[in-house]
Amino acid sequence: MTEPKKETAPSGDHPCGEAARAVRALTTLSAVNRALIRATDETALLHDICRAIVEKGGYRLAWVAYAEHDARKSIRAMAHWGFDAGFLEPEKLARAKLTWAEGERGEHGLAAAIRSGEVRVAQNLQTDPSYPEWAKEAARRRGYASVIALPLSVRGAVLGALVIYAPETDAFDARELELLTEAADDLSFGIEHLRIRTEHRKAEETIRRLAWYDPLTGLPNRVRIDAHLEEAIEAARREHHSFALLVLGLDRFRELNETLGYRQGDALLREVAGRLVALVGESERIARVGEAEFAVLLPAANAASATDTARQMLAAVRRPVSLAGFAADQRASVGIALFPGHGGEAEVLMRRAILALQQARLTTGGLTLYSGGLDEECTRRLALIGDLHRAIERDELLLYCQPKVHLASGHICGAEALVRWKHAEMGIVDPDRFIALAERSGLISPLTDWVVQAALRQSYVWHEAGLSVPLAVNLSGSDLQDDRLLERIDGMFATWGAGRGWVEFELTESTLMDDPRVSLERLAGLRNMGCRLYIDDFGTGYSSLAYLRRLPVDAIKIDKSFVTDMLQDADSDVIVRSTIDLAHHLDLEVVAEGVENARIQDRLAEEGCDVVQGYGISEPMPVGEFGGWLARSGWALGTG
Ligand code: C2E
Ligand code: CA
Ligand code: CA
Repeated sequence: MTEPKKETAPSGDHPCGEAARAVRALTTLSAVNRALIRATDETALLHDICRAIVEKGGYRLAWVAYAEHDARKSIRAMAHWGFDAGFLEPEKLARAKLTWAEGERGEHGLAAAIRSGEVRVAQNLQTDPSYPEWAKEAARRRGYASVIALPLSVRGAVLGALVIYAPETDAFDARELELLTEAADDLSFGIEHLRIRTEHRKAEETIRRLAWYDPLTGLPNRVRIDAHLEEAIEAARREHHSFALLVLGLDRFRELNETLGYRQGDALLREVAGRLVALVGESERIARVGEAEFAVLLPAANAASATDTARQMLAAVRRPVSLAGFAADQRASVGIALFPGHGGEAEVLMRRAILALQQARLTTGGLTLYSGGLDEECTRRLALIGDLHRAIERDELLLYCQPKVHLASGHICGAEALVRWKHAEMGIVDPDRFIALAERSGLISPLTDWVVQAALRQSYVWHEAGLSVPLAVNLSGSDLQDDRLLERIDGMFATWGAGRGWVEFELTESTLMDDPRVSLERLAGLRNMGCRLYIDDFGTGYSSLAYLRRLPVDAIKIDKSFVTDMLQDADSDVIVRSTIDLAHHLDLEVVAEGVENARIQDRLAEEGCDVVQGYGISEPMPVGEFGGWLARSGWALGTG
């Protein structure tokens, strides 16, 4: 092997006396420190350092090697400056199979420095026994006479080394070694500092994400959408257009969470979020603003287009979701607030969209556009729901009853149980004002339980006193849909030792039409328990008598709207009469409700009506007053 020609490997032109060396090392050190102060990026820093070392220190080559922790323990050139004859090109370096592992290829200062974490110097590469022949040969060709490998450590672990080649032998005396070691330590510190900064930046980014985004769905959160809302308001003001804020809420999410578990609940929320993003097209305009509530910002929208989108959102959510192996039928409601019509501030718009949502939850369509005045009305209703909840728990409800007269015998054959609410501020509240609310807010089961209990307690009292007055309790649609209805009633019957016929039930046509198959099953169950069944408000629904024929019921109650004006209105009279005929034809008993006076009662008697109920006989009264009323009225009790 021949010595390479000197021209291809120019030598350094710095003086190499001891003092001169110290000066060059000091210059190097200060250049390194300047680079450190300016550094913002690790790779750029390494590059600047190598350059400073060669240019200020007059060395032949400086490069930074990082130790890879791969199987081969290979070495990666991170940066270099000076004369490297191309050997630090990534491909060449790869071909050189440089390694910091022990063994033939790892017998050089760099590898040893990395392994030991200590500085390695070869003052004369050609005579140094620790360098193998291949390394000596390479050094000769490139004009490197001496070399120093300074380990770089970050957080106590060796990261790699800074390698400096000098063109002369004995280039690194004690003083220079000290200064270069210091420079390498500074570099280590600089790298560590930059890495910590990067980590901080990442942590800040995470914190920002946590502060602005919902971790479960990845959607913007309330804080973020508020900011977007502010921007949207500004833009809309500038450009004079309207926009809409929609808030979608999943119905009965709590229930689902409790029945199927939180994991399924989370899966559902993610699924809904995905569907909304697919529909709206841009996730930044959607936010999770409550447990199961999502806000959607629709730029340049008006009432019509917002309602349209709301419908699509409802449809998207209603597509079955497969949860825990079965398809859940998820329903939702949407409230809409419009800028500028419903408010000019982010907070107001959000509040009104949420109010509209609460209102939407109480409607059948599940969709409501905010309307002025609703604030108060809706807040009142919501307050009422809360109050009702407490009222049931605290037993602030009252049971009233209204007697029914069997026309043929002239006996009191029973009474309808009617609930009243003794509200602390509002006084006695009629059921028309709270039954519908209770139905829509899931309070009907506890309410029905309360009424059945109260009716049974009263029946018990009456039976103890020798009175037999069947009490007819009204059931709601949600009662009939409840799988546990029969079980609940059975339990209460057992508690009071109720006899057959103590309690009867009234159900409206529409209630039965909700799910005819289930209704049929429940009716049969109630009947098996010895309860007579009435179809309430007959004539107001759409069911035909032919349909009713298939139901296991005993009687129908002609709706009071026909009865009260049957003397004035020929149509009503016809309806009443034909209903009586048809019902009798089907072997059903007929009760007329809303009998306000004796004249109506007489006409009903003529038409063959079986039982009458109404103000003409008595207004509803507290159940406790029934005995006294009965004694005063002179009516006799009897079922026939
Ligand atoms: P409904 O089942 O049709 O009850 C008859 C309603 O007509 C009662 O109103 C009663 O006070 C009223 N009424 C009785 N006689 C006359 C009359 O001669 N003329 C007129 N114009 N009205 C008369 P109330 O007690 O205010 O109940 C209203 C509705 O609330 C009931 O209509 C029923 O649907 C519901 N409701 C009442 N109590 C309960 C209950 O415990 N559970 C359920 N689910 N619903 C109930
Ligand atoms: Ca009724
Ligand atoms: Ca009725």
